[in-house]
Amino acid sequence: YIDLDNFKLINDARGHVVGDALLKQVTQRLLLTLREVDTVARISGDEFVVLLANLSDDVRTGAHMALHVAEKIRLAMMQLFEIDGLQYSSTCSTGVTLLPRENQTADDILREADTAMYRAKSGGRNQVVFFETGMQSEIELRLTMERELSQAMDGGQLQMYIQSQVDRLGTPVGGELLMRWHHPQRGPISPAIFIPVAEESGMIIRLGDWVLRQGCLALNQLAGAGFQLSLSVNVSPRQFRQPDFVDKVRTVLAETQADPHHLIFEVTEGLLIDNLHDTIARMLELTRLGIRFSIDDFGTGYSSFSYLKKLPLYELKIDKSFVQDTPGDKNDTAIVQSMLSMAEHLGLRVVAEGVETRDQADFLITNGCSSMQGYLFGRPMPLDAWIDLQRK
Ligand code: C2E
Ligand code: CA
Ligand code: CA
Ligand code: CA
Repeated sequence: YIDLDNFKLINDARGHVVGDALLKQVTQRLLLTLREVDTVARISGDEFVVLLANLSDDVRTGAHMALHVAEKIRLAMMQLFEIDGLQYSSTCSTGVTLLPRENQTADDILREADTAMYRAKSGGRNQVVFFETGMQSEIELRLTMERELSQAMDGGQLQMYIQSQVDRLGTPVGGELLMRWHHPQRGPISPAIFIPVAEESGMIIRLGDWVLRQGCLALNQLAGAGFQLSLSVNVSPRQFRQPDFVDKVRTVLAETQADPHHLIFEVTEGLLIDNLHDTIARMLELTRLGIRFSIDDFGTGYSSFSYLKKLPLYELKIDKSFVQDTPGDKNDTAIVQSMLSMAEHLGLRVVAEGVETRDQADFLITNGCSSMQGYLFGRPMPLDAWIDLQRK
């Protein structure tokens, strides 16, 4: 199981849609490293599965050969990619499992390799990790979480929080809806942990439907309390790609009578690496309903400035990893400044995320950032509490 770590743009950006071209080159490199009996498949996005045939009946020899191939792939990916004269770099994280063992289903095999790949990622990326039975507990934990998450929705353990987005003067101009899971035994669980699990199991669809409805209800509550704010809702790639997504949005809007002109969908760059054409068409359909789009975690994915021009975007959210070390860090300061000036050229609103200090806020304001979100201005909190706080 191979997952590409983030691509980094090395040459200066003239701006290109690089996703498809890069994936083509990655596939070519994989094929060049493999033998004819082997199989390579793209699972989704930038994730690949490689099946090595006829390794050896002896486990140790087999493991050795698998490691050899995985290392060859790892080194192959580290070579620079070149597209239209621009150079890109990436690394990959790889998880390996050996088969067949007794009673091992295809699902087991994929899950094992995937689990090992997660280890490779969390261990610092750009490495090969073998599945070990000790990791079984991780798999079970994920399966348990899938089951519990489904109950959580019905059992009222999921709650929507809202975090302010403020203008230069600190006045709230919008809010982001963020999910919270209050687990009866384990306490609060971060969406950073359960969203990926939900994505992978497909539960994100049901979860996303629920969030969308909550978002509309929250908008109505805000409007009823006299707040004319925009509300940002996170939409995961899988949710967005459902064939009936637009219909679902229409239905929820009709049922709740919420005003779509106050609704912003936050999508990540990950959405843009596949089927850019279809993605744009769908975004346009939703834009016609009045919904606006924001690119979340900007700069952490397949950044390419020119695709921004092709998308019907309203806003760009600078990822908190860039904001964190401003204004001290020279690189991050330069990156944030160039993002801000680019956004201005494109006529996009910018929200800087993860603003925690006054210094960061001052730096952002000086450089023309229109909105900010972060602990400095308020933590995520339940909607009722948020409304109470604004009235004080
Ligand atoms: P995100 O969309 O990037 O959301 C921003 C995250 O930054 C939130 O984490 C927020 O609590 C945190 N944050 C806000 N201000 C600060 C700050 O000043 N400093 C630091 N260090 N962090 C700050 P949270 O709520 O844990 O959510 C994590 C991620 O889970 C979100 O990242 C989002 O990708 C995902 N998520 C949350 N709710 C939903 C949802 O309803 N649907 C989907 N699809 N994803 C969600
Ligand atoms: Ca990846
Ligand atoms: Ca977000
Ligand atoms: Ca974000």
